[in-house]
Amino acid sequence: MRISFHGAAREVTGSCHHFEVKDTSGKVRQILFDCGMFQGEQMCGSKNADVFGFDPKLIEAVFISHAHADHTGRLPKLIAGGFTGSIYMVEPCIGLSKLVLEDAYHIMKEDAKRCGSSILYELDDLKGVFDRIQPVSYHQEIDVAPGVSVMFHEAGHVLGSAYISIDAEGKRLVYSGDIGNDRVPILPETEPISRADVVICESTYGDRTHEGTEQRSSLLKEAIDLVIRDRGVLMIPAFSIERTQELLYAIDQLLQTELKTHIPIFLDSPMAIRATELYRHFKSYLKFDAPILAQPDLDFFSFPNLRETLTTDESKAINDTQAPFIVIAGSGMMSGGRIMHHLRHHLPDAKSRVLVIGYQAAGTLGRRIYEGAKSVRIYGKEVEVRAKVSAIGAFSAHGDQDKLTRWLAPEDGQTPKKIFLVHGDREVEEVFATHLRHHLGAEVIIPEYQGTYEG
Ligand SMILES: [Zn+2]
Repeated sequence: MRISFHGAAREVTGSCHHFEVKDTSGKVRQILFDCGMFQGEQMCGSKNADVFGFDPKLIEAVFISHAHADHTGRLPKLIAGGFTGSIYMVEPCIGLSKLVLEDAYHIMKEDAKRCGSSILYELDDLKGVFDRIQPVSYHQEIDVAPGVSVMFHEAGHVLGSAYISIDAEGKRLVYSGDIGNDRVPILPETEPISRADVVICESTYGDRTHEGTEQRSSLLKEAIDLVIRDRGVLMIPAFSIERTQELLYAIDQLLQTELKTHIPIFLDSPMAIRATELYRHFKSYLKFDAPILAQPDLDFFSFPNLRETLTTDESKAINDTQAPFIVIAGSGMMSGGRIMHHLRHHLPDAKSRVLVIGYQAAGTLGRRIYEGAKSVRIYGKEVEVRAKVSAIGAFSAHGDQDKLTRWLAPEDGQTPKKIFLVHGDREVEEVFATHLRHHLGAEVIIPEYQGTYEG
């Protein structure tokens, strides 16, 4: 099989991998794994505007690993390009993808206006995505063509996330999507790979080891205690899907045990509020640390201090609240969304804090704040950063080097012969590649953007 990489090649976002596989009659079939957008820059003038390096009309099927925009964001553009095949994803991923794509559409329109360029697709193309979706279950065998079958497996990264295997041409290739962290309190563990000849593996954190997840609540409690002591505002930029729900779960658990506080905790993100509703609805896909039936409210994402501010007016009213308080808002990389207003207000305040709990891509405001910038530009104005900035790696939704290595080579499984590293910064991929060559003895390739390789 031939694989070409149309995103997330030597960078973290834009996952889109094109496969040409032969069926039993020798006919070449074309499929895609993920069709995500590049993030951390404006849509116009970015690689999002590039012509696909394949013909969307010839693609028979797309397999989506999970709902995040960097894995789904170019699906409407694919429809605009004439794609008429099926899009496969696990059921909870459908509602989450809808939230993500609607959000991406608005961002794209704003960006296009700003750059004076045309939009990449129309609203009808976005709607067209949902006409083409086929919900699948984990472990369901999907026959793409004679001798070509695909299967979804639990990735433990977000609600309804999967890694995907394809059997064709007498071998098995596994595509990681995004692999979850170990012992995530609200998700099932990542399913081990039983067998793979070739793996396309994400490498977001391929060069480091996270703090143990057991540390997340103590670090979170510390940040909350400090902001209460200083009477400041704790700003937590959070991705709407998964990070927000894990945070709500962790706060819920803390409030039931060692954290005694009544300070307001605002969930100031319409998308996160709606995503949390989907998490509540698809509870059977989750796995909680605490026995859920023992809880009186059966809801680990709510607590008395929580205020969900859905409307703009409710959001604006947060400014009138007396500190201390906590605000959770998107976007997770501080590249837009309501968090921007809170940052503009509170970054100059030395009593306030920013708690970074997710990956900050190169080029984003989040990355500059995380790396200690003394002042940043927000909506055209220079804003001094006097608030304290700290990070909790244990909230990461991605596995670290150790987790990825264990996933690639389970004790009772076979080590893949060939590994393609994607979805990582170039330097990180180099470190991870050296590690894997040394530990697994596999051939490790860091593919280039739009490069084609033999799988
Ligand atoms: Zn993801």
